[in-house]
Amino acid sequence: MTDVVDKACELEQKQREQALAAARVTIEKPKELHGHRYCLDCDLELDTNRLIANPKAVRCVDCQTLLEHKNKRFYP
Ligand SMILES: [Zn+2]
Repeated sequence: MTDVVDKACELEQKQREQALAAARVTIEKPKELHGHRYCLDCDLELDTNRLIANPKAVRCVDCQTLLEHKNKRFYP
């Protein structure tokens, strides 16, 4: 019984994180100037490979990684 409850809690947590991530993407507008996109946190220009890998990216890899680590602390 505990396993079922644990799995239900785990699934709920994943769904919550996915909903938050989806909401964040719609809320955060990319910082763009003259056809270039810049990181929302550090203003570093996002390179072409980053945008090819994730066309909706609004942060550089370092800032995105840092943000995800912070979020994991709040939602382990
Ligand atoms: Zn950055």
